[in-house]
Amino acid sequence: MKKHNFSAGPCILPQDVFKEASQAILDFNDSGLSILEISHRSKDFVDVMEESRNLVLELLNLEGKGYKVLFLQGGASLQFLMVAYNLLEKKAGYLNTGTWSDKAIKEAKHFGEVIEVASSKEKNFNYIPKGYTIPEQLDYLHCTSNNTIFGTQMKTFPVTDAPLICDMSSDIFSRTLDFTKFDLIYAGAQKNMGPAGTTMVVVKEDILGKVSRHIPSMLDYQTHIGKASMFNTPPVFAVYTSMLTLRWIKENGGVAAMEEQNEKKAKLLYSEIDLNPLFKGFSATEDRSNMNATFSLIEEDLKETFDAMWKDAGINGLNGHRSVGGYRASMYNALSLNSVAALVDVMSDLERKA
Ligand code: PMP
Repeated sequence: MKKHNFSAGPCILPQDVFKEASQAILDFNDSGLSILEISHRSKDFVDVMEESRNLVLELLNLEGKGYKVLFLQGGASLQFLMVAYNLLEKKAGYLNTGTWSDKAIKEAKHFGEVIEVASSKEKNFNYIPKGYTIPEQLDYLHCTSNNTIFGTQMKTFPVTDAPLICDMSSDIFSRTLDFTKFDLIYAGAQKNMGPAGTTMVVVKEDILGKVSRHIPSMLDYQTHIGKASMFNTPPVFAVYTSMLTLRWIKENGGVAAMEEQNEKKAKLLYSEIDLNPLFKGFSATEDRSNMNATFSLIEEDLKETFDAMWKDAGINGLNGHRSVGGYRASMYNALSLNSVAALVDVMSDLERKA
């Protein structure tokens, strides 16, 4: 039986994508060859790269607006470094909203002055800071749209003249935004986009080429733009499977349709967390993430019973991250409302039994 997979990432992808990707391992495009054995320079794979790039721009409504799409390696973690390498000349501003922002800040400090414009660290990142002042003359301002570990999500974005950079690893393609507000967006594929192994970067070309330092080729966005993400051998299978997932998003109504479904799922789970007297939510209500819901039992002694119940119900991946504890239900695009209903049923069963 297929599990209800609430894992934080790698995570659930559409079942149809798994099927098609499996088929391509055996025989890609009826070529008599596997996707794993063809040359990345073959026309079939060059087409995959191109379609993937085009789908990203189409789904984010960024076509014809000066953006380039890259599929790189090294995870979102390498982007913490590459962003600063390519863009930080003197000083950059960072919003510190969780573990991942904190790591991005650490890397940026190797390249210049980093101003922590706002932080929610003092409350274990259970809210998104508001009402802060953004300093003048920043090389860029960096934020994290969704905090995977703590379960908070930015609902509005800072307004600044500086280029706006955003780590959207855990909510890309999950909601409509005016993506033209951002000058560089990056996301590890392994949540809403595809399997682990590639990282999407969408960058407005005109912000590049302005720092005075020498940038090693492999870490220079311009190298990868110039070579259409083929400077070195790309992660062929991760890009192909991401393309299938992007197609699936498009065929299922695009980002707006994903958002509608994600709102329904989040509403269902958060109302159970709020109404069920056995549970409490972790993050500030107004900043709750539609992707990752963090919550815990009020009475820890029910843990054993609850854990056995959700496992029996075919639920996987519900344990919270060690820095928060409790539970985390990740509800990425491919997770159905039905799976969330299965979790909510277990939570209300527990209430009946307790
Ligand atoms: N940023 C965010 C928001 C994340 O959730 C993660 C991973 N879960 C990362 C960055 C790091 O990504 P990677 O493992 O691809 O380096």
